[in-house]
Amino acid sequence: MAGHNFLFVPGPSNVPNRVLRAMAVPMEDHRSVTFPTLTREVLAGLRRLFKTEHGHPILFPSSGTGCWEAALTNCLNPGDAILASRFGQFSHLWCDMGQRLGFDMNVLETEWGEGAPVERTRDALAADGEHRIKAVLVCHNETATGVSSDIAAIRRVMDELNHPALLFVDSVSGLGSLDFRMDEWKVDVCVSGSQKGLMLPAGMGITCVSAKALEAARNSRYPRCYFDYQDMVRSNAGGYFPYTPSIPMLYGLRESLAMLEEEGLEHVFARHHYLAEGVRAAVLQGWKLSLCAKEPRWYSDSVSAIVVPEGFNASLVIERAYRRYNLALGAGLSKVAGKVFRIGHLGDLNELMLMGAIAGAEMAMLDCGIPVTPGSGVAAASEYWRTHEAPPGLGGRS
Ligand SMILES: *Cc1c(COP(=O)(O)O)cnc(C)c1O
Repeated sequence: MAGHNFLFVPGPSNVPNRVLRAMAVPMEDHRSVTFPTLTREVLAGLRRLFKTEHGHPILFPSSGTGCWEAALTNCLNPGDAILASRFGQFSHLWCDMGQRLGFDMNVLETEWGEGAPVERTRDALAADGEHRIKAVLVCHNETATGVSSDIAAIRRVMDELNHPALLFVDSVSGLGSLDFRMDEWKVDVCVSGSQKGLMLPAGMGITCVSAKALEAARNSRYPRCYFDYQDMVRSNAGGYFPYTPSIPMLYGLRESLAMLEEEGLEHVFARHHYLAEGVRAAVLQGWKLSLCAKEPRWYSDSVSAIVVPEGFNASLVIERAYRRYNLALGAGLSKVAGKVFRIGHLGDLNELMLMGAIAGAEMAMLDCGIPVTPGSGVAAASEYWRTHEAPPGLGGRS
């Protein structure tokens, strides 16, 4: 096929050429005397990204899922009670993992399209006077439904009740795209990965653990080895890893962290919001369709899940977009399969790249008989972007 593929799934995201080039390196001795410089640079950059002074960033050769498992098996004891909410495929999978690892999962079933239920979390914690619940699991950005949750509000509830449970947050599709504040929100474990906001290939689990989480890990009897936090923290202190790290991924991560810092984290978040608002204008005002996210306060700035009208199959739109226009849109997962398609708007993106996705999705919908007005999505997005001031990361050349 002529031209390049338009990759608009919400992960893996586009890897910038700068990162690709940084990853093209010969292998080297990961036990050399100079290697700790690279390790320390990367870990310091991650501390700034997680907004933590005392938290320990940890890198596992896994995807985000490995970091979910590490959080549960390092900080908890077999059979411990966990409070979680389920409102999409990713929050579901973490609950399912907890179940399969033998924890006592207390799940707040929440409608898909809503965010983490703050009041029901408060009720559940208030009813737990004996502090049986050892951890609260929250998905910061539910990629399946395009919903962001208010982590600060969950922390406030825990503080008001003086509940000592650990707070575990999945920010796999949030970190590097949406504001995340490890220390301010007193998050004990943040779980993330390389292939979303960090603009890298998949294959590196990126997590950050608080001093309280490490203390819990010292007291945990849950068997673990490869994913042991303490082994990692001990080796990292000297600038090394307990086993062979992926050297290209470390150089790539160093470069993507540098790119985020050059743009400025707050500008990166503003860019994601600005781009997301253009996509939402296309969906809501242009196509007159709806988002899976039920209220504006839950709208995700890194992914939009678009509901196709009753009687149409979103999977056919995705297939048409891919086969005919070389555009990869995100599929509807599990409960919303066939009902939604997703546009990922995270990582290395600007307005005109997104215009390709909006135009392609529009053509694919028309081809499938969905009665959207031709050109309406592109017109609404362009109207938004032309009439709102762009953050410095976009159109900065005067
Ligand atoms: C992508 C994603 C995951 C899973 O991460 P993998 O890297 O595929 O293991 C978990 N949670 C959320 C919210 C995600 O978007």
